[in-house]
Amino acid sequence: MKYLFPIIIGLCILISCGTEPSPLYTLNTSVNGEGQIGYSVGYTEKIIISSGEEQFDKEESVTLTAIPDSGWIFSSWQGDASGYDLTTTITINDEKFVRAVFNKSPNLKFEYNIHSSIPDDYETAIKDIISNLEIIAPVNEYVGRFGPLITGVAVYSWLQDKVDYPYSNEIGRTEQCICGEVGGKLVMSLMQEEQWLSETNIHRFALIAHEYFHVYQLSLSRDFMSSMWMVEGQAATIEALYLREFFNDSDYIENFINNVDYVKAIENIETYEEYESAYDSFGKYGDITIFMNLVLTKILQSNGLNEIASFKLVFNTFWLERNGDGNWKTDFKTTFGLDVYTFYQTLNQYIDDPLAVLPSNQIELSSFLELSK
Ligand SMILES: [Zn+2]
Repeated sequence: MKYLFPIIIGLCILISCGTEPSPLYTLNTSVNGEGQIGYSVGYTEKIIISSGEEQFDKEESVTLTAIPDSGWIFSSWQGDASGYDLTTTITINDEKFVRAVFNKSPNLKFEYNIHSSIPDDYETAIKDIISNLEIIAPVNEYVGRFGPLITGVAVYSWLQDKVDYPYSNEIGRTEQCICGEVGGKLVMSLMQEEQWLSETNIHRFALIAHEYFHVYQLSLSRDFMSSMWMVEGQAATIEALYLREFFNDSDYIENFINNVDYVKAIENIETYEEYESAYDSFGKYGDITIFMNLVLTKILQSNGLNEIASFKLVFNTFWLERNGDGNWKTDFKTTFGLDVYTFYQTLNQYIDDPLAVLPSNQIELSSFLELSK
């Protein structure tokens, strides 16, 4: 009996020596331009930034993610990986070398076509808000989903009471939207009416931030704009946060949150995925899309992220992840480590006190919209 103890220890050492996983192959990574390479292994959703040299077990399947720095865009993979998608997977069956190439991306240039029917103070507001957002949330040139290089944004505004679609030859009978592109420039159409320009209607400013954020989403995702509740819910959240931060108006976002029939909206939650059915549901149950995006930031925080990091993941990283041909639900799971349907079920936990999903006053747009590492 007195020899049993050392024997057990001896056995343990032998067994652990035999089964200890030993790294067999090295993956070397490097970068051209400015950006980083992240990696994840197996089913783990967590992306670890590569230090340049990582060791993996033989036959390990490693997912690499290109993470461009601010003002840079991912171009391609080289070495033992190839392709143009932000993520790529390689099997470590030998020593491997992978390089991510990033190119400097110029900012989109804004040009203005403001009709003389627009009052001077609103023309100034359009230019001021866009210039401000160009600093807070820079938007870069990108190659669109259907091929064309987008180099700028042509902004159009006119007073519909005074003049009937004066730019229809150039941009069609557009109203308030980012409506396609003309000659490599996105069209931002800001049709106005006198009643909307009254001093009490602060939506006239919110609209500009809203449409600007669509440009931001387009630039990051290269045009992969779905689902509806993320595209529109986030643009509406940004317009509301813009008013809170720069116009000292907190009521605007609270009104959004207070005017929803949450039980009915959640029963019909999938109708908020597509534009056609969503607008129908807006009329019947209210606009739950802002609440949804804010709940998502809360769930990410309860999983350990700080508030700014959670906003960055929802309003920025998700659109970068869309930059490919993936299904939005797959991109959702990849970005947030959460299944969309599981997410929908958790919405119910927040409806007793919906205003509690509002971000803290520490949240400033620049803290999560500027592209950074
Ligand atoms: Zn919109």
